[in-house]
Amino acid sequence: MADVATEDDATMYRAGTDMQMHWNAEARPAVRRGECPTLGKPMPTGDGLLARLRTRDGVLTPPQLRALALAAQEHGNGIVEVTARGSLQIRGVREETIVPLERSLKEAGIEALPGIAIEVGPLSGLDADEFTDMRPIAEDLRAAIADHEPLLVLAPKLSITLDGGGRYHLGDVASDIKIAAYRDSGGQIRHLMSVGGDNRTACRLAILEERQIVSSIMALLAFMASRGPSTRGKELDAAMLADLFHPDASLVRVELPTQSPAPAGRVATDAKDAVLGLVLPYCQIDSTSLATLADRLIEIDAGELRFAPKHGFFVTGLEKEKVEDVATLATTLGFWLDPKDPRQSIALCVGARGCASAFYDTHEVADSVLRHAQGLLDGSLTLHLSGCAKGCAHPSRSALALVGTPTGYGLVVNGAASSPPERYLVASELNSALEGLASLAMPSNETGHTVCDRLMKLGARRIAEALLLEKT
Ligand code: SF4
Repeated sequence: MADVATEDDATMYRAGTDMQMHWNAEARPAVRRGECPTLGKPMPTGDGLLARLRTRDGVLTPPQLRALALAAQEHGNGIVEVTARGSLQIRGVREETIVPLERSLKEAGIEALPGIAIEVGPLSGLDADEFTDMRPIAEDLRAAIADHEPLLVLAPKLSITLDGGGRYHLGDVASDIKIAAYRDSGGQIRHLMSVGGDNRTACRLAILEERQIVSSIMALLAFMASRGPSTRGKELDAAMLADLFHPDASLVRVELPTQSPAPAGRVATDAKDAVLGLVLPYCQIDSTSLATLADRLIEIDAGELRFAPKHGFFVTGLEKEKVEDVATLATTLGFWLDPKDPRQSIALCVGARGCASAFYDTHEVADSVLRHAQGLLDGSLTLHLSGCAKGCAHPSRSALALVGTPTGYGLVVNGAASSPPERYLVASELNSALEGLASLAMPSNETGHTVCDRLMKLGARRIAEALLLEKT
């Protein structure tokens, strides 16, 4: 019978967590807290080492995609992921395969960019609604950072987003330093500089002309370095930076978009050739499917792969008559092509299908969610299905998480997978609990709110109590 968290459950839960910590302690502590995993310095996870890489402007060619898929198969466990920010991840790497993996990718001409992440929009230069193509600015910025003397010592996870605008803008990608292009009321293209958040939350600092972007970011980076190598954008505010920038009232009047669509489906562009967006199912694809897609793209001489936030990529340079052919193949291979696919609200790890630390089959539970509680997936929240408390698929907080425990599932509300669950469920209670959650989130007499709004209004404790009452 379902119950709110008991001490025994909590002990079992901690036992499971401790077990994973023990497992991880035995692996090489390759990545320190505060660092991101990289190709040469992967991070231990439940299914081996995880290597992350970001290529120049997030681009690969079809032959490089094929080489990456084969390398993931040979030197990892064959699972490739695209993160929420559009970085590539290869799972299941082993100590002895780190160097061969690096070598294979290098031989294919895949350059994993080291240092600060400098991100541009996935369709830079192709998006018909874009204001500024940020790729040359990103190149100048990389050169300025590399040439800076003395060397800038900055936080390892520091990220800079150069958002040229357009349909696939980066307004909902949080970063330490953000530049967002927009058109002002006089029709001029301007660039808003802000720090420590996304377009909704970042602290606004200045309005810049295109020619001022690199020098302004360099001034900000030098300031951050002077405060110490752990300084992040969210620690800064306009008052601290008053000597560098002079905020004025016009900053608050700049309207920027806050939510961009997933990179899924056919995209209208100014380019002669067509563009098709593909989202990886639950952020992951097996390397055999990826290689099959790459083979077809090579065969039809497609352009590039542009990796994008929200776990996908665009295929560019497709002859218009080949788009349906690629779309059909991609659908068969499991890619998602509908930007409104409710499954995009679920973040899951490989679970019992590929990780020794998992307490349940995350894919099977995702199917149960679709059958019993699809109403939860309105796009307003992330439902995190985590095989254990490590939370590899979604390390940050999510509105709802089902975390594997030795006795079943821990339900976490508005927390990370490692947060204490509000209540525990055994396997036989899962479907009715999902149905209960879906009906709680959609009261018939309330309209105009998202599922996330409704659940957050109820609060964690009331959700747990309501589910308990439903059972009695
Ligand atoms: S969160 Fe998932 S992939 Fe990560 S260690 Fe736990 S079960 Fe494995």
